[in-house]
Amino acid sequence: MQVPLLDLTQQYSQFKDELLPDLASLCASQQFILGPKVAELEEKIAAYCGAAGALGVSSGSDALIVALMAEGIGQGDEVVTSSYTFFATAGAIARVGARPVFVDIDPRTFNLDVNKLEAALTPRTKAIIPVHLFGQPADLDPILKLAETRNLIVIEDACQAIGAEYKGKRVGALGDYGCLSFFPSKNLGAFGDAGMVLCRDQAKVERLRILRNHGMFPQYRHQIVGGNFRLDALQAVVLLHKLPLLDGWSSARQANFTFYNERLANTDGLITPWIAPETTRHIGNQYVIRLANGKRDKVMAYLKANGIGCAIYYPIALHCQECFQYLGYRPEDLPESLKAASETLALPVYPELTAEQKEYVASTLLQSLKQA
Ligand SMILES: *Cc1c(COP(=O)(O)O)cnc(C)c1O
Repeated sequence: MQVPLLDLTQQYSQFKDELLPDLASLCASQQFILGPKVAELEEKIAAYCGAAGALGVSSGSDALIVALMAEGIGQGDEVVTSSYTFFATAGAIARVGARPVFVDIDPRTFNLDVNKLEAALTPRTKAIIPVHLFGQPADLDPILKLAETRNLIVIEDACQAIGAEYKGKRVGALGDYGCLSFFPSKNLGAFGDAGMVLCRDQAKVERLRILRNHGMFPQYRHQIVGGNFRLDALQAVVLLHKLPLLDGWSSARQANFTFYNERLANTDGLITPWIAPETTRHIGNQYVIRLANGKRDKVMAYLKANGIGCAIYYPIALHCQECFQYLGYRPEDLPESLKAASETLALPVYPELTAEQKEYVASTLLQSLKQA
């Protein structure tokens, strides 16, 4: 049996017949940049996430960059984030000229450890970027509270967490900004790169709108320097067709997540993902286990040899990346991130997995542990 880590072809067949005529009419119009479909998507995603406003952008990475730019964050500023996340979170901070400051993770959730946050703040800190990793919200209340007392901006990296809920509220609309990615492997994926910035305050959307188009307002006048962060109309058409199906897909991921958690419970040397009590909806973007004592590489090879796709998210903690050596961290400074990078393994959790495939993944994994 073959079980890929992700298979988007089955999903495509669910909306292809309705989508293709809409793509054809957009092609006939030749109106590819922004336009009514992008505006419609912004409205619908804002409503879906409970945000005051939203702005479609070129990717999740650009969403982070433009949110930082909108707050004038750059040279001389520090931005605090998690040391265990996809590179783009910290890359965005460095790209605007600010200094990334890393906080270690809570080993149970892989999200920023709020108990270590305050110690990372300095008078130069301007913003905090909590990441909702693998589809589970970071512990936002203490973060928002600290940000309020210190007058800091909170930019939620919700790139893996559209629709996830923290104490009953959707993430992305709880901080000043929320960044979404529609990279194809996310729960809501485009046919290429796309992203969105959510805002708690509608007024912030207007500044983002100007920055998205080279800082131009009105036509050919530039009071600020922006960039080309525009969202393609073609991607908006695709996403508008997929959005009504998103909750069904996220529920199917949750069900797969629960299946694995039960099937793999109480296994020696294996830690299943933990769902925090504050998480009222985990969208299951990734199902990530931990394998202790150097077993991971053997297990991974065994799974792959048996036709099962799996991957390491993420093999190198950000404070250990070459490009961040100038920050002066030693690997052991953030021990939980370091440990996670050596233990994590993501299994297939996509919505269309069959019961047989899930059982095959779980039983093959248990078998591999006996041999590892
Ligand atoms: C995917 C992702 C991003 C970047 O999104 P892109 O659309 O690929 O640019 C940023 N942060 C996290 C946590 C992500 O998973």
